Amino acid sequence: MKLVTRAAWGARPPRYDLAYIASTGGVKIHYEGTYVPKSLAAADAHSTCAGRMRDLQASHLNHPTEDYSDIAYNAVVCPHGTIYEGRGPHRKTGANGNSTLNARDYAVCAMLGNSGLVVPPDAMLDGLVDAVTWLRNKGAAGKRVAGHRDGHPTACPGDRLYEWVRGGAVRPDGESPQGGTEGEVPGSGIARYQVTINGLRYGYGAKGAHITAVGKALVDGGFGRHYKVGPGPEWTDADTRNYQLFQLAMGYTGTAPHEDADGVPGPVSLQQLLGKLPGKTPERTTTAPPFPGRSAFVLGKTNPAVTQLDGGLIRKGFTRHHDGNGYQAGSRFTTFTRKNVADFQRATPALAGDADGYPGPLTWRLLLS
Ligand SMILES: [Zn+2]
Ligand SMILES: [Zn+2]
Repeated sequence: MKLVTRAAWGARPPRYDLAYIASTGGVKIHYEGTYVPKSLAAADAHSTCAGRMRDLQASHLNHPTEDYSDIAYNAVVCPHGTIYEGRGPHRKTGANGNSTLNARDYAVCAMLGNSGLVVPPDAMLDGLVDAVTWLRNKGAAGKRVAGHRDGHPTACPGDRLYEWVRGGAVRPDGESPQGGTEGEVPGSGIARYQVTINGLRYGYGAKGAHITAVGKALVDGGFGRHYKVGPGPEWTDADTRNYQLFQLAMGYTGTAPHEDADGVPGPVSLQQLLGKLPGKTPERTTTAPPFPGRSAFVLGKTNPAVTQLDGGLIRKGFTRHHDGNGYQAGSRFTTFTRKNVADFQRATPALAGDADGYPGPLTWRLLLS
């Protein structure tokens, strides 16, 4: 097995913490689904594969509609059979179509196209089996190997690769992937990762009085039917299932963070359920200046309030986006300003549900106090 780690291919860090996942029922196979040149499979083209990974990650980080935190796949396999580490084992993928499907299987993508390179080379099939085995051994993946199109309307992973999946996902010499838990992993299909909201942990295995409070609120709201006992102070699969009922009732179905209906709380749904966010609230040592109004923040336009806004971003360390010379305070509201504001919003539970990068009164107050 040839594995290239994130550091070795030059991955950018994720935009925010990736969701931990204890186990999955299996692995879903994907393809790039765009034009991939046949020349990529040439023996001397392997030196370009790491660069292709960086491009793939960049295209996900800059995706116009999906708010991806990182490359969506757990691993990517090149035509030469090398595995490139994506999100890696024990991280929830973003590629399978919706949050339930993302919690159920890992995602491995082949550098294969819907035109150009459409036939997987033998080395790639070996690499895919290596990737499946790796996720079984390091990420507690179950024995299932399926295609993206299983249970989700998509052409992915293409007819040729899907045929291979249906044929048992074996090596060119006929050997099956090794390892993997027998049958269905208990709890697979149910999201088993934790999140931290306002300093408190939620999700499978999390403990505390705040967990009981969530359970009671679910029961009060009519979302308690999965409890056989409880609710209690330790988060179980029943809590996840009930919370999912509540999220679905709120209209959550998407794959974007904070629109997940996978039964793990996000700050927006939790606030909605409890009427407040329990836990540590940041101390307010200073009072923010009055909000100048949304009209102060127009892309490309200048306003003195933008300089104040920049001061807050710099003090709080949200300066990742800049023109190459570092982020400096100025009166123009640029796309860099907007992206830095969006980073701050995403990192702030009360704002994360609407991280559009345009300051409203609450963003203003929290950033400048
Ligand atoms: Zn796919
Ligand atoms: Zn390669």
